[in-house]
Amino acid sequence: MRSEPDPMVFAVKLSDSPATRIDQIEATGQYAITIHWQDGHHYGIYTWHYLRALCPCSECRGIIHGEDTPSS
Ligand SMILES: [Zn+2]
Repeated sequence: MRSEPDPMVFAVKLSDSPATRIDQIEATGQYAITIHWQDGHHYGIYTWHYLRALCPCSECRGIIHGEDTPSS
């Protein structure tokens, strides 16, 4: 799965609540993480690709656009 993040993901204002606070992060295989939120929900798997696509740094931009490959 190579779904891309919504470009407006950082434009959404979230209130501070147990539903938006991280309780713990768990590895999901070797390709993703699952976030457990303080309200008890843990839906969704965040792949390394998805997280890279969210990151504005030049290293991640290069990997996402196929200009480089991860070294590890
Ligand atoms: Zn980055």
